[in-house]
Amino acid sequence: MMQPGITKLVIVGGGTAGWIAAAAFSRLLGERLTIELVESEAIGTVGVGEATIPQIIRLNAILGIDEHEFLRATSGTFKLGIEFVDWGRQGSRYLHTFGDTGMNLGNVAFHHYWRRSVSGQAVPDPKGLWDYSLHQQAADQARFGKLDRVGNTAMTGLAYAYHFDASRYALFLRAYSEARGVTRTEGIVQSVERQGESGDITAIGLADGTRVAGDFFIDCTGFRSLLLGGELGVGYEDWSRWLPCDRALAVPSERLPTLVPYTRATAKAAGWQWRIPLQHRTGNGHVYSSGFTSDDAAADVLLKGLDTKALGDPRPIRFTTGRRAAFWAQNCVAIGLSSGFLEPLESTSIHLIQSHISRLIQLFPRAGNPAALRDEYNRRCAAEFAQIRDFLILHYHRTDRDDSEFWRYCKHMAVPDSLSHKLELFAAAGRVGRDPDDLFRDASWVQVMLGQGIMPADYDPMADSVAPQQLGEFLTNLRILISRAVAQLPSHEDYLRQHCPADESLLAA
Ligand SMILES: Cc1cc2nc3c(=O)[nH]c(=O)nc-3n(C[C@H](O)[C@H](O)[C@H](O)COP(=O)(O)OP(=O)(O)OC[C@H]3O[C@@H](n4cnc5c(N)ncnc54)[C@H](O)[C@@H]3O)c2cc1C
Repeated sequence: MMQPGITKLVIVGGGTAGWIAAAAFSRLLGERLTIELVESEAIGTVGVGEATIPQIIRLNAILGIDEHEFLRATSGTFKLGIEFVDWGRQGSRYLHTFGDTGMNLGNVAFHHYWRRSVSGQAVPDPKGLWDYSLHQQAADQARFGKLDRVGNTAMTGLAYAYHFDASRYALFLRAYSEARGVTRTEGIVQSVERQGESGDITAIGLADGTRVAGDFFIDCTGFRSLLLGGELGVGYEDWSRWLPCDRALAVPSERLPTLVPYTRATAKAAGWQWRIPLQHRTGNGHVYSSGFTSDDAAADVLLKGLDTKALGDPRPIRFTTGRRAAFWAQNCVAIGLSSGFLEPLESTSIHLIQSHISRLIQLFPRAGNPAALRDEYNRRCAAEFAQIRDFLILHYHRTDRDDSEFWRYCKHMAVPDSLSHKLELFAAAGRVGRDPDDLFRDASWVQVMLGQGIMPADYDPMADSVAPQQLGEFLTNLRILISRAVAQLPSHEDYLRQHCPADESLLAA
């Protein structure tokens, strides 16, 4: 006999994870499911999470969200990448852009031609890799615009993501979800009811006595992980031996005088500091390891590193990098911070929320919670977490810094084999050992490996097929085309002013 179908979905938690889940489920499965979201204003949300990666554009497209309306409502800005300052060594600086550098020729990636150009034989006066980056040039000049291609070449245009105000984002998605029938219940979860035989969750009880029953539960309760971690007892894999930062202090400051289209991540003695430009203010935070510095010293570093005047006191957040041993257990899936946390260096958490929700929707059961679906979901989420973890470790581990105990630890720590292999491969021959479903593209691995200071010993011999003079002309032409394309872009500030100025009435609310 078929089990009774799933008709009622309960989402517990109304942070970014809860409201993205509500928005996506109401949009895609809203006709089949009744959706109720429970959240507590008294508990509140983590209140950070303001930088994204380009995949968010796909989420907006699925939800049918208009980009300009979204940016107006969230006081958002555009993001072309992340500038890493002082990572590979003090004084170094590179942009991990969302785009390609230069242009591939045939099957040979551009960075091989570039590597050949700096080998001392082929090209007089060789330039740096980022001299061939459209994104770098646009970022340096604080310009932004929609650009699909560079001139009439095959060179891809500007890939981008957004920065936005996290609290406004959750409110925006809440309005979206409520308009599509999601009901919101205010209250603090105090108890969980389970079915005796199966162990499935049947209802949650709120502090005021309200009982919220459901067939399937999404745990979006943040670091508390009330249902998956707490009630169902799913353990946590701690990855802090590889990613030792475990605390953050966040503080807003006045808006930047020039709105640059990128996040900045500046390495510090025991961690790093973020700077996220929004239209009305700047988001800042210092992510650090409590094993290598004190909270007071970290606060001092944060405040001294601000580019504009602080608008409050630093707010502390604690975390342990890692993930739940399973993401889906019984009839409950944890999404967002409740499922694990990879520190925010590459702005991947909101993407993980999005990708977990889309995976869950793809595998969503008609009834019950079949083990085969759960296993597949858990397998794919685990692989995704591990790939992002390795990419983050790369930033810490591949460094020449040895000016503090923290950096000496990171430089000498043992890293997962999956990463060691990639490092050796790139160092030897400039090849990228990317896994097929890795979130980060070859272009990302190349930029971060080079940016952190790995110069490949060799390059693809196919890059020798171009005569030296032709190679020189090709490289010069690329730079000319890029600088012409960038000169035609409006300033980021003008683009925002013209298309999506922040809604002042929302900001005052
Ligand atoms: C320092 C830091 C910086 C970050 N920066 C970025 C970034 O730049 N980019 C990015 O993509 N991500 C970033 N993240 C991650 C991002 O903030 C989160 O992924 C995102 O905000 C989602 O959080 P959440 O919804 O899972 O949890 P939360 O925001 O904590 O929401 C939890 C919800 O559960 C509710 N809740 C909890 N307990 C109960 C209860 N007992 N009863 C009822 N309700 C309850 C709360 O009220 C709240 O609504 C960052 C995280 C940290 C810690």
